[in-house]
This record gives sequence, C-alpha cells and structure tokens, in this order.
Amino acid sequence: GSKSHTNVLIQPNFKFEDMGIGGLDKEFSHIFRRAFASRIFPPHIVEKLGIQHVKGMILYGPPGTGKTLIARQIGKMLNAKEPKIVNGPEILNKYKLFADAEAEYKARGEESSLHIIIFDELDAICKQRGSKNDGTGVGDSVVNQLLSKMDGVDPLNNILVIGMTNRLDMIDEALLRPGRLEIKMEISLPDEAGRIQILNVHTAKMRKNNLLENDVDVKEIASLTKNFSGAEIAGLVKAATSWSFNRHVKVGSVAGVSDDVEKLKVGREDFLGALEEVRPSFGVAEAELQ
Ligand code: ATP
Repeated sequence: GSKSHTNVLIQPNFKFEDMGIGGLDKEFSHIFRRAFASRIFPPHIVEKLGIQHVKGMILYGPPGTGKTLIARQIGKMLNAKEPKIVNGPEILNKYKLFADAEAEYKARGEESSLHIIIFDELDAICKQRGSKNDGTGVGDSVVNQLLSKMDGVDPLNNILVIGMTNRLDMIDEALLRPGRLEIKMEISLPDEAGRIQILNVHTAKMRKNNLLENDVDVKEIASLTKNFSGAEIAGLVKAATSWSFNRHVKVGSVAGVSDDVEKLKVGREDFLGALEEVRPSFGVAEAELQ
C-alpha cells in the first residue's frame, strides 16, 4: 500500500523496464533494501550502527524467470565487479572462486568493490554434501568453502553470494542460516501485469525502430501467455520475428530479399503464429486442471 517503505532506496521515477527487467519491481526493491541498504551508506555509519553487511541470499523459483537478470542489475547499480557465475558443480575444483575478492579485501579493506558470486543450480552442488552417492566430495568441499568464506574468522566483507535454485527444499539448511544465504526471495512466474512489462522490454527495440505493427497489443499477448516465464516470452518474441521474416522474405530471390526485408514489420499474426509453437514448460498441468 501507499504506506509501504519497500521502495525507499529506489528513486520514484526509476523504471525497472528500462533496466530490461519486467514484472519484478517488488522483488527487486525488497532485495535491494534488505541486502544493500548497508552497502550504500558510508562505512562509518554502518560501523556506528554495529551491523554487518548481508553476504548471501537465495533466489528460488522456476527457470527463466529473471533471477540472473536481477543479480546482474543489482551488481551494476552497486558498481560491483562482473559477477562470477558457477553453473553446477563440475568446474569448481579448479576455480579459485574467492581469490580476487580476498586479494582486493586485503589491499583495500572496506574500500574494496563488491564481488558477486552466483551459484546457478545451487541444489546440484548441495545435493552431494554428506551424501554417499557421489564420491567426489565436490559438494562437500564447495559448501564448506562457502561457509568458511562467509562466516570464517576473517569474514570477507566485500562478497555477496547469490544462490539460485528451483528446488529450495534441496538446499542444505546450514547454508540458509543468518550470516549465510540469509535472504530468501521467491521469483515466480510473472502474472499478467508482469507479462505486459516483459513483453514491453522485449519489443522495446522494434517499437522504437518502428518495426512493430500497430495491431500488436501487448495486453492481448499477455493474456495469451499464462504460465510463460520471462525467458519463454523472450523466445516468443524471437519466434514472432521469424514469422515476419517468413512473410517478407522470398527464398531464392536475393534481390527480392533485400528489398522486402526493409519493409519487415512484426505484426499480430506473427505473434499468433509464434504462440502455436512456443509453449510454457512450467505450471502447465496446474493450468489445465482449471
Ligand atoms: P535459470 O534458473 O534458468 O538460470 P533465471 O531465472 O536466472 O533462469 P534469467 O537467466 O535471468 O533466468 O533469464 C533468461 C532470459 O530470459 C533473460 O536473459 C531475459 O532475456 C529473459 N527474462 C527472464 N525473466 C525476465 C524478466 N522478468 N524480464 C525480462 N526478461 C526476462
């Protein structure tokens, strides 16, 4: 409601769509306030408050909903280093994940820039901790390394670990305690309003370049894309352009191609064609029951 202070750190005229994120305003604002308030204030204020920075969070929910987008954008807003993204457990042995952050923290202390480390599919790493089914000990060593960096004797103040998963239940409890991945945020499939915003994000360029027909109504398309993730909506837009190509480009006539292609515009019929072939993969069973 109007009394909510959720957006207190976000400028009133700040547009999430301009950042390429649709439908996640509340989630973004919440994460930003909880995880970053302390990092925006000068160190001496934080010192006076006697608090420690949040060093970890977990974003969970279906694939393709914008978890990585949020992490990247937050990093940009805080002038963080380009995040290191770890996909699954396999590459971890050779990866000296925390080395850069440690070196900079040693050299610059609280002046160090923020280092973001993203564990995509954190569940795949956790699964193996303490279990016998694997034998590599990878899960164990990674989780233990994480824990020791986050709350060791010399905690690294310049790191933010972001775990991502679509299986929160698979995540080791030990990782979710205060001081560790302590902020949990669900990133779910977008509702209709969210889908409108996401469609606006992904058609912004063609609209700006006058390549979108007037008969394209994002509200209509949003109503036809129940259960689509953001990634699937991006896929739909891409498929729609292929239908437009199909209408404009005569294969076999090179001269014809270059002429016609200049007239290319993406229209409603292209989106309807695309909707025939791009379908949501998540939450469908639930929808069909209704
Ligand atoms: P995964 O769990 O599969 O890693 P994710 O939740 O991290 O998925 P992203 O990698 O952030 O998803 O999204 C993939 C792509 O889908 C993005 O690069 C973007 O093009 C599109 N997308 C997803 N969600 C959104 C959104 N909320 N707004 C705009 N685009 C989105």
